[in-house]
Amino acid sequence: MNIHEFQAKQLFAQFNIPVPRGKGVASVEEAQAWAGELQSPVYVVKAQIHAGGRGKAGGVKLTKDRAQVGTLARELLGKVLVTHQTGPEGRKVQRLLVEEGADIASELYVSLLVDRFSGWPVFVASRAGGMEIEEVAAHSPEKILKTLIDPAAGYQAFHGRALGYQLGFEKELLGPFVQMMGNLYRLFMEKGAAVVEINPLVITRDKKLIALDAKVTFDDNSIYRNDDIKALRDLDEEDPLEVLASQYGLNYVKLDGEIGCMVNGAGLAMATMDTIKLAGSFPANFLDVGGGASKETVKQAFTILMSDRNVKGVFINIFGGIVRCERIADGVMDAAKEVSIRVPLVVRLEGTNAVEARQMLADSGLNLVVARTMWEGAQKIVSLIHA
Ligand code: GDP
Ligand code: MG
Repeated sequence: MNIHEFQAKQLFAQFNIPVPRGKGVASVEEAQAWAGELQSPVYVVKAQIHAGGRGKAGGVKLTKDRAQVGTLARELLGKVLVTHQTGPEGRKVQRLLVEEGADIASELYVSLLVDRFSGWPVFVASRAGGMEIEEVAAHSPEKILKTLIDPAAGYQAFHGRALGYQLGFEKELLGPFVQMMGNLYRLFMEKGAAVVEINPLVITRDKKLIALDAKVTFDDNSIYRNDDIKALRDLDEEDPLEVLASQYGLNYVKLDGEIGCMVNGAGLAMATMDTIKLAGSFPANFLDVGGGASKETVKQAFTILMSDRNVKGVFINIFGGIVRCERIADGVMDAAKEVSIRVPLVVRLEGTNAVEARQMLADSGLNLVVARTMWEGAQKIVSLIHA
């Protein structure tokens, strides 16, 4: 789960990580009112969307004139921001962060995430932070530093000192940096984060360390442990079909192809997507209804697939191991009573009671094609949508 920058900064403040004074707002009036309270030499108005690259896309505005804050807010609210992370369709700005500006001497990069090879938390840092960090990583990887933390012992001051020296910190900033990294580590562990990123972490002209940007992503499997984190979810930023799917406990990820797939088990779902591609098309989604799919889950999944306008055909590929195939057939038939089958549908059932289930579907009078094997099913659905 992703959260907004203004929420991440509130979390930072709780863990004593210095951030600019600021507030999340959702209207021009709120932005103006808060600017009046803030009283700062420079105001920053930042679009809040669940994507980075806002600076380059015009989503971060600075002004010295308090009266301008309202104008900037009006400009940004409702605007569709297209950044290198949003894809061409962009994201509509519905919230802003209005905060005091910082007088920047230098911009660094720091993040904390899980290292895939060791499985340990790892600090990733660079002296060359700011909006060009992707370029730095691609062209001068030697400027990216890494420090692994053994979670059994946890973060120790020497980790921070070593990293601070490598980053070339002056002596007087080393202490605050060591403390800041410790607080970042505590936040990461206590709140079940998957990534915490500060880009830029700035050193101001009066020699202070401030997190000027903040990104926190949580591990979905850990959110149940923290009610305060659960409350930060912003459904406006998520795909409506993914939100619906999560309410039914379905593992659903929307993709940009044209064949909707309903599969039980993540491994079979991946294999199905590969097979669709091999047969000459692209999957419109990943959807795992789970090994123990019920008639009800099948029905909900079916509804979601049929309401996706990009879906030109549906391929249901179920292996009846825990679940019996006639229950799946029943679910499909039930769903088809309520949701019209508006695109070609191919169903492949294998496993327990597959013969009976196939017969049920064939006798149902529904507009669908029954396939015996996965490869046959994939080829059939691709040829049907291109017919
Ligand atoms: P991102 O582009 O979505 O990652 O948004 P950031 O929050 O990182 O902002 C992009 C850039 O805007 C930063 O790298 C800074 O150069 C600039 N910026 C943001 N806040 C301030 C500020 O308070 N003062 C100044 N001078 N620049 C800022
Ligand atoms: Mg940034």
